[in-house]
Amino acid sequence: MKITAGGKTITWRRDDVDMYAFHFEVPAPAKEIQVALDFLSPTFAGGFTAGASTTAHLAMVTWNQLLLYPEGANVSDVIFKANLALPTGWKFGTSLPVASQSASKVDFGAVSLERLVDSPVLTGEYFLVIPLAANPPNEIDIGADNNADLAIGPELATTLKRIVSEAASLFGATHYTHYHFLLTLSDHTAHFGLEHHESNDSRVAERSLLDDALRDVSLGVLPHEFVHSWNGKYRRPAGLATPNYQEPMKGELLWVYEGLTQYLGNLLAARSGLWTVQQYRDHLAESAADLDHKPGRLWRPLIDTTVAAQILYGSPAEWNSLRRSVDFYDEGWLIWLDTDTKIRELTGGAKSLDDFCKRFHGAPSTAPMVKTYVFDDVVTTLNEVAPFDWRTFLLTRLNSTDFHAPLGGIERGGWKLAYQATPNGVLKDQEQVRKFTELGYSIGLRLNEDSSIADVIEGLAASKAGSGPGMKVIAVNGKAYSAEILRDSVKATTDLRKRRIDLLIDNEGHIENHQLSYGEGEKYPVLERDASKADVLSKIIAPLTWTR
Ligand SMILES: [Zn+2]
Repeated sequence: MKITAGGKTITWRRDDVDMYAFHFEVPAPAKEIQVALDFLSPTFAGGFTAGASTTAHLAMVTWNQLLLYPEGANVSDVIFKANLALPTGWKFGTSLPVASQSASKVDFGAVSLERLVDSPVLTGEYFLVIPLAANPPNEIDIGADNNADLAIGPELATTLKRIVSEAASLFGATHYTHYHFLLTLSDHTAHFGLEHHESNDSRVAERSLLDDALRDVSLGVLPHEFVHSWNGKYRRPAGLATPNYQEPMKGELLWVYEGLTQYLGNLLAARSGLWTVQQYRDHLAESAADLDHKPGRLWRPLIDTTVAAQILYGSPAEWNSLRRSVDFYDEGWLIWLDTDTKIRELTGGAKSLDDFCKRFHGAPSTAPMVKTYVFDDVVTTLNEVAPFDWRTFLLTRLNSTDFHAPLGGIERGGWKLAYQATPNGVLKDQEQVRKFTELGYSIGLRLNEDSSIADVIEGLAASKAGSGPGMKVIAVNGKAYSAEILRDSVKATTDLRKRRIDLLIDNEGHIENHQLSYGEGEKYPVLERDASKADVLSKIIAPLTWTR
């Protein structure tokens, strides 16, 4: 970073407390300063990052890393004019207005800092644009590391269009003028999604459009981030709507911001056909079982995971079950399913959470704007849809330190969380893509590909035997470890004579024998139909705009 005024270098000093603030004096008679910033794009180190990512064939430009702004300013009042020099032949997608364009340079129109930071640019050599809807226009801009990864089939293209039409039917209005799905296909950038008013920055594995397992595990990010245009960007918790980026945010309504988005995003994945009905149920079984096997629930209520979001996003995966993480995503899914099925029960099926969405996020359609809310607004709108003591209903679930997850929505939906001896289709896809071995629901053990223990479930066999995250499994019953050999030994425990598994463990260089006492065989989650109740869950995920 170099700051100059009238060609002369200005000395600056970083603030002692705010590491992103710089102090300096502008020498008279200078009326303006120049700041030159070089951003050195980091190499891919894995994990979640909102930062810029580049490879030899594409770049995701996130403006917040490329600028300074006056301290204390309201970001909607500061005007920026950006331009971008691109490698020859590279195309780009963004929701920023383009003022002029030449072969190697794009000049964007003047916009507020708020809008600039909300409008990243995806650019690349191998680039595909598919229009998804006309009024208002929606498109998906896809940048890939390899041209062949863009060979998207007509079925998936149709499905992407349905995500847009199903969302329009769900909310009944839009709050953008032109929406861009910015999709990065690369094995050399971080994989995650980030929401914006008029775009989303979604980065997934290179072959996600071509490989069925990757599609199942990765592409749910698209409807999720799209829903944020309504839930998060337009309707935003007051504590998250700060006047600038230095002001700390308050996250206690993240069970709405992310939790309801998780519910609605997955709903759209099913309603659009991105997921089959069976895949929706398998994903739900997975999330519900995970949350129902978290001893951390006994000390940490869900609401604390929202308040502590900024320290939990970066927390390690080890001991997750005992410590909890950003559970407001998937537990939000359960709580909003609970809410949706309760509305349907209270109104005899006449009303649903769709009606809540139309009131809370819907008409009139607007350009991007922020309408803040507090907890009472959520309760009031639910009461307008179906009068009930929603305050107690929600607070009970948010503050609960019960061992069990809130499974009422699954049950009211006509299904039961159960366990079977073989992994469901979604778990198989997840194990294949994320390269782990799930034995959490049997012996309470989750393993990484290299045989290191990712986590144990306190109270189950592995944990009781002394196994814990960070240790490595060397051998199972005297045989060198492989995921298959461990699975076989768990499977064999249904035989009364084989109710003991001996693990040879490397505990940070100390070799130990752990004896697991267990006799229930393999157990993997699944949703089972409860024939005594109506199948409300299938009704909830039925498409509104097409016939499956
Ligand atoms: Zn989200």
